[in-house]
Amino acid sequence: MRAKAEARLGVVERLRPEHSGSALPQLRGLGLRCFVGAAAAVIALAVRIPLQPLLGDSAVFATFYPAAMLASWYGGFVSGAVASALSVVSIDYFLLAPHGSLRIERPADRVAVVAFLVCSLVVSVTQERLHRRLREATAQAARISRLQAFSAALAEAATTAQVVAVAVREGVAASGASGGMLRLLDAERRLLLSPVVHGATLDRRAIGARRGAEDRRAEGGSGPSATMRVDAEGASLALRALRGEEIASEVRRGADGTEWATSALALAADGHALGVIELDFRGRNAPEGAERAFLVSLARQCGHALDRARLFEGEHRALARLAVLAEVGRVLAGNVALEALPNLVGRVLVPGAADACVLEVYDDAGACVARGVSHVEPRFEARLRAQPLAPGPSALRSAVVDHGSVRVSETDPDDHAGILGLVGARRGTLVVVPILRGAQIEGALALIGLRGGRRYGDDDLTLAEEIAARAAAAIEQSRLNAELVAAVRVRDDFLSVASHELNTPLTPLRLHLGALRRGRADPAKMGERFAALDRQVDRLAQLVGQLLDVSRITAGRLALERSPVDFAALVRETAQRMEGPLAASGSALTLDVPESLVGSWDAIRLEQIATNLLTNAIKYGERRPIEVRLEALADASARLTVRDHGIGIAAEHLERIFGRFERAVSVRHFGGFGLGLWIVRQVVEALGGTIRVDSLPGEGATFTVDLPREG
Ligand code: ADP
Repeated sequence: MRAKAEARLGVVERLRPEHSGSALPQLRGLGLRCFVGAAAAVIALAVRIPLQPLLGDSAVFATFYPAAMLASWYGGFVSGAVASALSVVSIDYFLLAPHGSLRIERPADRVAVVAFLVCSLVVSVTQERLHRRLREATAQAARISRLQAFSAALAEAATTAQVVAVAVREGVAASGASGGMLRLLDAERRLLLSPVVHGATLDRRAIGARRGAEDRRAEGGSGPSATMRVDAEGASLALRALRGEEIASEVRRGADGTEWATSALALAADGHALGVIELDFRGRNAPEGAERAFLVSLARQCGHALDRARLFEGEHRALARLAVLAEVGRVLAGNVALEALPNLVGRVLVPGAADACVLEVYDDAGACVARGVSHVEPRFEARLRAQPLAPGPSALRSAVVDHGSVRVSETDPDDHAGILGLVGARRGTLVVVPILRGAQIEGALALIGLRGGRRYGDDDLTLAEEIAARAAAAIEQSRLNAELVAAVRVRDDFLSVASHELNTPLTPLRLHLGALRRGRADPAKMGERFAALDRQVDRLAQLVGQLLDVSRITAGRLALERSPVDFAALVRETAQRMEGPLAASGSALTLDVPESLVGSWDAIRLEQIATNLLTNAIKYGERRPIEVRLEALADASARLTVRDHGIGIAAEHLERIFGRFERAVSVRHFGGFGLGLWIVRQVVEALGGTIRVDSLPGEGATFTVDLPREG
């Protein structure tokens, strides 16, 4: 492509303005034109004099007519006029009577001389006009060719960088400028980006920039980083052109006194400015007339080419974004663990969509539970990843909490320092979006551009939001997976505990029944045996009852049968029923219960609450005293408190033990399904009450149940 462009450049070079008039004979300079006129007259005389003997006094103008015509053809009106005047003098002096004198005696000769003079002058004027028209037509044809060659060269350029390089190089060549530079506007059309320069220009910044530009062009980059605000004060040529001047021109003087005319033209498409081209012309020769119109067409072509390149790049970027989205979707499609997710996404986004990327996942309290940092520099990335999560609120989370989605095309060192600090940078461009589940902030994603060229636009913001939506779904999925795994583990644990628990009462049951069947039982101990049988059957009934309650509660079938119940009497009866186990455990029970405390409750469920709490107090009470207290509260509710002084519960288990199958002790030391407290809480809540526990390990536990007396 470059070779083709060079070939076209050759065409342009051949058609440069200096050469454009060379197709026509065109003598420049007054002296030369006068000389040609004089020479023509002399030659005509020199040819005519030898013919005198042959022609006599007839046909005196024979050689002078063609001489005047030829002179005006080559030298225009001036040559024609000089040739005509000298011819008249020569004819009069040498050929008309009296010879050797400038007098003309015969009236016919006078008429002939005047006729010759008029004719040759008319011919000269006509030729001059013809010349001018031809010159203009030729110049116009040359301009059209230059414009065509320029368009053809631009047509080969696909990307903005290519268009800029071709436009400035070929634009300089086609316009006959000594040099020029082209500056683009940024995506927001607020900044003139670094110039790309070609040829010799007067602008010192540009000359400095040229080296940078050439270096960068060699690297495939786009130029130095000097930028200029479009809304800046000052009447720079570029700004004048951007503000609507068709061609803004001024004459500048170099340090060595050389003068240059510089013209700036806005490059626009559909009324939107995309950049500015500035062309320098040696001398004070700012383009005029047709050349001006030519430059305007040139700028229009550039504008369209830039617009086309922008569309092309936009499409290219859209395809790249789709590819990134597809890839993110692919890596997140599997069963991704929460901790691995941020880095997996980062790996897809860097370096295609960002130079660095941070993805954080938060828990319900907003604490960061997983963070991934990716960076174009693998060694730097390894260092960043090795850093532990800093305690305290994350800067990324604060940004999304305060502002939602953020797009920053250029940061100052102090802006977003917290986020940039996560990737060890002080400056950069940013896109930050929250990862949302409904209104809840599940995490945040930051795409960071560290190289000058990466500027984020609205499309990138949309891309980041799309990625965030996919990440949100994957986070949800991985949380569900983790919950599922935990639930399966709990179920398996429960099954092994349940089989052990259900089996435990069966062994003594079988032994006692076997002894009874064989008639070997000591009649004196029959009562004891039946009591033992009763205890095991009660235990089995309690376990089966708990299992039935679980299925009832989870199916939403916990029906309450409310009626007036005396809670005080019920607690006393329960304590009485528990005398056996209390005696077996060795714990002394203190009851602090009023005479009567009546409310609208479900008697069976109320007994279940009291029995479960007392059973646990006996089970975990380590033979130490147990206190049960029932009181009426001022707010028309009843409070049951069951306190033991046994093993107690560690702080981290206090909430958990009210969960289904949750236990804070090992199954080897204490039996149980881990269902009792869960059922109690369900019943208490169904009755409109609350339950809580206060405990310290080794110091016992106090369960407090508050129940409203009216349902
Ligand atoms: P289970 O007693 O059958 O294991 P629960 O639901 O009644 O099931 O109790 C859940 C867990 O709470 C118990 O495993 C135990 O770790 C703890 N717990 C309950 N009551 C007490 C208590 N009074 N003292 C110490 N720990 C208790």
